[in-house]
Amino acid sequence: MFPTSIAGSLPKPGWLAETRKLWPQWKAEGDALRQAKADATLLWIKAQEDAGLDIVGDGEQSRQHFVHGFLEQVEGIDFDHKVKMGIRDNRYDAMVPQVVASLQLKGRVHAFEARLARAHTTRKLKFTLPGPMTIVDTVADRFYGDKVKMAFAFAELLNQEALALQADGVDIIQFDEPAFNVYMKDAADWGVQALERAARGLTCTTAVHICYGYGIQANNDWKEKLGEEWRQYEQIFPALAKSSIDRISLECYHSHVPPHLMTLLTGKDVMVGVIDVASDTIETPEQVADTIGQALQFVPKNRLFPCTNCGLAPMDREVALKKLQALGAGAELARRRYG
Ligand code: ZN
Repeated sequence: MFPTSIAGSLPKPGWLAETRKLWPQWKAEGDALRQAKADATLLWIKAQEDAGLDIVGDGEQSRQHFVHGFLEQVEGIDFDHKVKMGIRDNRYDAMVPQVVASLQLKGRVHAFEARLARAHTTRKLKFTLPGPMTIVDTVADRFYGDKVKMAFAFAELLNQEALALQADGVDIIQFDEPAFNVYMKDAADWGVQALERAARGLTCTTAVHICYGYGIQANNDWKEKLGEEWRQYEQIFPALAKSSIDRISLECYHSHVPPHLMTLLTGKDVMVGVIDVASDTIETPEQVADTIGQALQFVPKNRLFPCTNCGLAPMDREVALKKLQALGAGAELARRRYG
């Protein structure tokens, strides 16, 4: 009951990359960088296991950023001439690479870290990929001239990598789609379809993570403007409920999302965010168990998967570690309380 996991990313140790940054610079290169990424991956797998998490991941230690890590292995993208672009409906500016030609994979994207993780844990292994709609919102298009067409082109590439990850022994493939919470109509109109294209043919568990973003200032400012009730999920959950995706990851604790919106996901597994990533305050096991208890009013016991609200990449490493422990201890308390 209540299998726990993180959303996806974890802070990179200071010897691997700059800390507390969304697009950190690596501290090494070549073989030394490869080794450092591997070391950081193993370190975080151990930390997740020690915290009692049931489903573990690579903590995205091998990618600079959750979207651009995938794009680095895509032909047709110019990384040498990044441009400044407002992303997530101009919520903040990012330096993004440009799509300049027809897209195809250069080869495997995440084989190294996925196989490494698989070889070093017997727990369920989750692997994250950016969703097609969020990718489209994090690159500059100089070639396709059509968002939907480009999203489906990315979806095909994601599908190739996802099938290969499944063959590597990954148990759960999760696509991250924070853009769904920004372009709700597009998400319902074609975003969910593009996501299904990315997940086509997968027999492992499929998941999608939809959040209100990392705990960075631009996101915190944006949330301030969203009002008393955040009802973005209300517009996209019905389309997701009808989709082939098995599991939906959502933000809950410390958010203004009305919890009853989870009833729109009947028939799906729900990963409930019980850890706030926008605050360094460590949740107590009681707080985590209380959030699980609240979600139990709307999600059946066997479908509730406690999770973090979002990735922990930009956080302090010690804080992130304590939050993992709070997640593990809180779920354990919830099992005793509600079991
Ligand atoms: Zn997120």
